[in-house]
Amino acid sequence: MKMLLAGSWVDRPEKIDVQNPFDQSVVDTVPRATPSDVEAAVAAAVEGAKQMRRLTGHERYHILHKAAELMRARQADLGRTISLEEGKIIGEGNFEASRSIETIELSAEEAKRLGGEVLPLDGAPGGAGKFGFTIRVPCSVVVAITPFNFPLNLVCHKVGPALAAGNAVIIKPASDTPLSALKLVEILLESGVPPLAVQCLTGSGSQIGDALCRDPRVRKITFTGSRDVGEHICKTAGIKRVTMELGSNSPVIVMDDADLEKVAASTAVTGYTNAGQVCISTQRVLVLDRVYGDLVDALAPKVRAIRTGDQLKPETKMGPMIRENDAKRVLDWIDEAVRGGAKLLAGGSRKGSLVEPALLGDVNPRMRVSCDELFGPAVALTRCKSIDEAIALANDTRYGLSAAIFTRSLNNAIRFARECESGNIHINWGTQWRADLMPYGGLKESGLGKEGPKYAVQEMTELKTVVMHDV
Ligand code: NDP
Repeated sequence: MKMLLAGSWVDRPEKIDVQNPFDQSVVDTVPRATPSDVEAAVAAAVEGAKQMRRLTGHERYHILHKAAELMRARQADLGRTISLEEGKIIGEGNFEASRSIETIELSAEEAKRLGGEVLPLDGAPGGAGKFGFTIRVPCSVVVAITPFNFPLNLVCHKVGPALAAGNAVIIKPASDTPLSALKLVEILLESGVPPLAVQCLTGSGSQIGDALCRDPRVRKITFTGSRDVGEHICKTAGIKRVTMELGSNSPVIVMDDADLEKVAASTAVTGYTNAGQVCISTQRVLVLDRVYGDLVDALAPKVRAIRTGDQLKPETKMGPMIRENDAKRVLDWIDEAVRGGAKLLAGGSRKGSLVEPALLGDVNPRMRVSCDELFGPAVALTRCKSIDEAIALANDTRYGLSAAIFTRSLNNAIRFARECESGNIHINWGTQWRADLMPYGGLKESGLGKEGPKYAVQEMTELKTVVMHDV
């Protein structure tokens, strides 16, 4: 495929191969953008932003609504593209495509709701006779940098709100998975987005990222990806608005009054979906001693039953990891834990980029499988003596994206919601659950700002305060 730069589909002599992670066959190629492409893209986006500002909210609603309809008509192709380039099973690819339609539809609705407020200036000393109000204006040029693991929906979570708010947007998709984003851009153009208002630069983040993030004409960067790249972008960006959706090692607390069948069923899903490559995957399960053995008995057979293989085959329940190197890293971390005294209760072997879903017991919280972001198909069980110890362990991390507790006690649930340092809290389900309309984002080093179209639109607009004197 070509990339969309300054209103034209363009190619470059240097290419990036997009591979099927299952067998490394080349699905397609995309151009490798250069820093001079970034210069052209930003200049075009400045013009695109002027065109977007002239559209009314109603017009932006219609464009995005049409995009959602076109996506619905092409849902099967989008789902297959996601699955092919990312490696998630076809059912998950189709589900992501359907969520992406929802995200664009929600964004369309938000285009109609960009209001300000009247300020009660007569409540201020010297405010008599004044009339004040706020208006929301677009940021202008938004750069959207996205990770590989949700190659369509996470692009929609940035592009939908950016356009709804009246901005121009430059997308920099992950180099492993640019095809879904390019197909979305085709749809947006067909729906009537002004051609300079949406662009998609395919290229290596380490080669073009700094040029994109440093440019003073860019007012807003919305990034989803790893903590370290997020930190680098924040340092490079200078005075700009940033949204950072970063990593996690999400904890789940299991109290001794929990429904253990439900814990096991939920963990077998939320720990292994997309081969564990979900930012809110269940990674650490902190179990009260009294029910530890029963939970192992309920959970281990469910993990062993997850069938791995070609992500496009209907019988496959878990596909490959994105790259063989990541699969090797996951195995290294598992081996390290076992050498340190953890018990391997299921899986833990590898063939190429396919990792057998792993369950580790008696994990020391200092082991890497527990204290770092694993981003792979393994869950670490750790014994705890009390809710105090479990909450302390849940919080003993630099991350804070999603956390969960299983309990029948309202007191424990509310205490956990109050004390757990996490942007998303789940009670009686695992950490991996999201409705696209809800505010979603992390505390601590999991990030800054919220996504979910209603909230992202706020972050992609700026507030002006207007005071009329002597009225
Ligand atoms: P990376 O941080 O490696 O890459 C994310 C994006 O950043 C890619 O487009 C990448 O480009 C780009 N990039 C790399 N270097 C730079 C740079 N110097 N400047 C600008 N952009 C750059 O993450 P992954 O794609 O591996 O995704 C996995 C991570 O994303 C995990 O940590 C996961 O937790 C997190 N994530 C967070 C979510 C959340 O909502 N909080 C949701 C999903 C994932 P290229 O591909 O070309 O290197």
